[in-house]
Amino acid sequence: MKIISNYINGELVNPLSGSYLDVFNPAEGKVYAQLPDSDGGDVNLAFKAASAAFPLWSSFTVEKRSRILLNISQAIETNIEELALAESMDNGKPLKLARSVDIPRAATNMRFFATSILHFASESHYMEEGVINYTLRRPVGVVGCISPWNLPLYLFTWKIAPALAAGNCVVAKPSEITPMTAFLFSKICIEAGLPKGVLNIVHGLGNKAGNAIVSHPGITAISFTGGTQTGEHIAKIAAPMFKKTSLELGGKNAAIIFNDAPYYEMIKTVVRSSFSNQGQICLCCSRIFIEKPLFEKFKKDFIHRVKKLQVGDPLKESTDVGAMVSEPHMKKVLSCIKIAGEEGGTITTGGKRIILNGRCENGWFIEPTIIEGLQSNCRTNQEEIFGPVVTIMPFENEEEVLGYANSTKYGLAASIWTNNLGRAHKFAEKIKTGIVWVNCWMIRDLRTPFGGMKSSGVGREGGWEALKFFTEQKNICIKY
Ligand code: NAD
Repeated sequence: MKIISNYINGELVNPLSGSYLDVFNPAEGKVYAQLPDSDGGDVNLAFKAASAAFPLWSSFTVEKRSRILLNISQAIETNIEELALAESMDNGKPLKLARSVDIPRAATNMRFFATSILHFASESHYMEEGVINYTLRRPVGVVGCISPWNLPLYLFTWKIAPALAAGNCVVAKPSEITPMTAFLFSKICIEAGLPKGVLNIVHGLGNKAGNAIVSHPGITAISFTGGTQTGEHIAKIAAPMFKKTSLELGGKNAAIIFNDAPYYEMIKTVVRSSFSNQGQICLCCSRIFIEKPLFEKFKKDFIHRVKKLQVGDPLKESTDVGAMVSEPHMKKVLSCIKIAGEEGGTITTGGKRIILNGRCENGWFIEPTIIEGLQSNCRTNQEEIFGPVVTIMPFENEEEVLGYANSTKYGLAASIWTNNLGRAHKFAEKIKTGIVWVNCWMIRDLRTPFGGMKSSGVGREGGWEALKFFTEQKNICIKY
């Protein structure tokens, strides 16, 4: 049994309470590790360590901070196999995905912000002769970073890297469902020479350790990625305390496919945008709208390709779709499929739990599922499912499909497939999402603003947006 420790003041420590929680390997459906069940006391210790480290860390030159963060990035790359295996075991995702996407991206996150901070500059406003303003940007202080289970190390580092690069000290909490790579990351930080207290990782439950971070009066900015309901709860605590918040929340993304879509590229990408990481990526497109003349052909080809996806042991190279992250989440997704049936949907592919043989016989696997025959306004098409489940729906014209696409409370991402340039631009402008892909999906330039509209969040991450969030601006006006 592996035992995970908190990382506080540069050391790996037990939770004050001495209590631990189970961590499951979802592909085997069994407990394989224990994580600290931390509480407000541990968060307090982490905060004290972070505030003691802040004067030194924030006074380092950007070059010095950058060099340490680059060491961390390098160490992630050196340990890619160990981290990828840990991520796959913890989360159920295919090992090949963790090795090719999650872990390399965690290294890139650290390197990207280690180097962007070297180029981060602030403005100066000349007003008139004798009056000039300049903007001073200083780190906020001790900040809280809370991340979800779907892309564990990838999203954890996506927050921590800009926070540290900008000179803040951090109290962070990874998801209690997938804590292993954050634990390995704490060991990497120690070896890479990160000064003690600069980053503190407190493991535990959201409504206990997470809540203690959000409500701590000394932690003045919260960067959160997770569900919309949790985001709402955090906003209620943080708003009266006037904390800065960045909230990256749920989605119900649309793929819109016109007759003139680049067909081959579209069909293979839509399979990926539907089922990558078992459909558990906030950017996955779960509603697929197809222009009517193309509908039958698309349906036939899509089903054919989806049926060929290999659901299986995440450690096998041949596996395309791994395990669902937890038993409760698997049950939730299966109940959503049941609701789709009750709403009048026809399950054209999948729809059931899969029981595998051997090592994974007790694992939590679901068949990639395609549903048709539903209205755009039903629950299945309005609520986030966050699993390997998509709906396909025909549409007649642009106006109709735009209405469908914008009909949910979410507004994270959309993917538009057309070779009509004018239409692509028009849709890109009119769709109410923070991210739009045209003839592609999930191509990420880390300099671009990342985040959603409506119930998908508040604020943007990435590039200068992240560095601005993690700094406090001050205007200084000088008369000379
Ligand atoms: P979640 O909201 O249950 O948990 C996310 C994190 O918040 C975890 O670390 C959890 O412990 C913590 N938490 C829970 N309750 C808390 C509380 N009361 N106070 C403080 N922290 C608390 O989400 P999840 O199930 O881990 O992740 C899935 C969700 O994340 C989906 O809705 C998905 O769309 C969303 N997501 C969004 C993005 C994005 O960039 N917009 C990216 C990935 C995932």
